[in-house]
Amino acid sequence: MAVYLDNAATTLPCEPAVSAVFDCMVEDYGNPSSLHKLGVIAEQRLTEARKSIAAALVCDPQCITFTSGATECNNTAIIGAARNYGKRKKKIVVSAIEHPSVAEPIKYLEEKEGFEVVRIKPSRNGEIAAEDFIDAVDENTCLVSCMMVNNETGAIQPVRRIFSHVKRNFPDCITHCDAVQGFMKLPIKSAELFADVIVVSGHKVYAVKGVGAMYIRKGIRIAPLLMGGGQEKGMRSGTESVPLIAGFGAAVRSLMPNMNVAYSNAEQIRAYLLKKLSKLEYITVNSATENSSPYIINFSVRGIRSEIMLHYLESKEIYVSSGSACSKGAHSSVLSAIGVPDKLADSAIRVSLSRATTMGEIDLLVNVLQEGYQSLAKTK
Ligand code: PMP
Repeated sequence: MAVYLDNAATTLPCEPAVSAVFDCMVEDYGNPSSLHKLGVIAEQRLTEARKSIAAALVCDPQCITFTSGATECNNTAIIGAARNYGKRKKKIVVSAIEHPSVAEPIKYLEEKEGFEVVRIKPSRNGEIAAEDFIDAVDENTCLVSCMMVNNETGAIQPVRRIFSHVKRNFPDCITHCDAVQGFMKLPIKSAELFADVIVVSGHKVYAVKGVGAMYIRKGIRIAPLLMGGGQEKGMRSGTESVPLIAGFGAAVRSLMPNMNVAYSNAEQIRAYLLKKLSKLEYITVNSATENSSPYIINFSVRGIRSEIMLHYLESKEIYVSSGSACSKGAHSSVLSAIGVPDKLADSAIRVSLSRATTMGEIDLLVNVLQEGYQSLAKTK
């Protein structure tokens, strides 16, 4: 039986999500902008999903915009905030360990639009020091961006501390949080986070790929990227993907009551994995255990390159990631930012848990890892 331990890359869609997608394809297939009955039903499907995402973020459903995924949300938020708030204030402060869907649009603003960008480096445990971040923000800053949980190491960032300080001192500065790896794992209350924009993705929470949502605080003006029919209150033109959105809502509803149980289960599984790994002298753990999501564990198998071990595990139907799936084998900028030496970074493996991961699966992983190390180390 396959052991899937790459849940930070994507998750297996849950049954309620799949049925909602199916129902919206075969029955409730209307266009939510149509005025007839099928359109109204499709619109109701959107409303129901919007309420579910809003409940999970503790906000008004009016603040939720659906898009094609977190990449689109992050691009819209960053470029859209820079357009409206960055005419005179030309500075952006961002963590140095953001996902490319944040880092790249910011690099674009730096290279093409004349913004000054300050990138705040994390310490060895993967965490950004809130003070470093706060010190870099001034009255010329139009945007700050800090992710909630790093997708490669699991490090939880002090977003609330940073944003509360920024909003108190510079209320016009936009605060943006990519919460993709924290959503439905850590509790998120939009108001308490002091975030103007919060970005989440469906396929990391047992929904289908190609749908995401962003919370935009009331009164904040983000310029939309797409022009057209004015759907999503003008924030995101294009006919809404009702099936994917309904599936996202259904997945969130089914996760809501069990978030805490799932989190403590993940903590136990991580502790079990780390205990087993600590007995293997060739393993270096790159993730911290404090202030770190239990769902993501990054470690290096010294002397064996990531892809080699990844494919060995794959040959035994165990699926993990090397660094992050998005970097497709490229050198991890996150691991180098936290000071992991290149050699160790080249042998990094990321294991990411789901709510259903069992101790038995961890036993299998560690057994095959040991077997793999013994056979691969010999052939070196
Ligand atoms: N941000 C983070 C932290 C992520 O892990 C990912 C997914 N790899 C994204 C953004 C992009 O999400 P999506 O696939 O929905 O575009």
